[in-house]
Formats: sequence, structure tokens, C-alpha cells
Amino acid sequence: MSELPSTIRIGGVDYAVVARKDLRDGNTGLNGHILYNDCEIRVEAEMTPLIKWVTVWHEALHGLLEHAGMGDHEEKMIIALGYGVTQALRDNPWLRQPPTADEVSADE
Ligand SMILES: [Zn+2]
Repeated sequence: MSELPSTIRIGGVDYAVVARKDLRDGNTGLNGHILYNDCEIRVEAEMTPLIKWVTVWHEALHGLLEHAGMGDHEEKMIIALGYGVTQALRDNPWLRQPPTADEVSADE
């Protein structure tokens, strides 16, 4: 599992990805947090690489819906999609390999 990326682009906005050791201070239970106005995704540093990856996906999904004007989405939907994307990508290598630009144009 690779390290966290320094940035992730969501809905045309570049978000800094930052690992922190204070997200659970005060018993928040947070694994991650997305700050739309600061363009930052915070991820708890004291987690396994896989859970960090799931957490970044989770926060990215929040961002995708926020930027689509659906900021009032339900948390349970994001949890389901975050783990669902994880399962689909881990179990199906083909889903991680979109066609190249040449292949896309060849189909047109
Ligand atoms: Zn969430």
C-alpha cells in the first residue's frame, strides 16, 4: 500500500492530504475530515495504510457530493460507498485500469 498522496483533486479543487495525530483528541472517533474552505483532507496518522486509504476515499466521496451541490447527503451512504469502492477496486484489478486516451478515441 502506498503512502498518502500530497494532494487529491476533487471536483476541480486540489485538496492537500495531511496525516495528523490529533483527530481523535476529545474522543471524536474521527478517522478523517474534509475541510472544504481550507482545501484540506485530514487523516488520522495512527491507522493502518489500508484504513488510511479507505478514509481518503471516504472524504473524497464527501467532497464529490459537496461539489455537486449535495452537501446534505447522509453519512451512512458515504460509509457504504467508501467500503464498497475499496472492495470493488481491491477485488477487480480491471476496474483500476481505465482505457488509455488512444483506446477511448478508437471506440468512437
Ligand atoms: Zn464521513
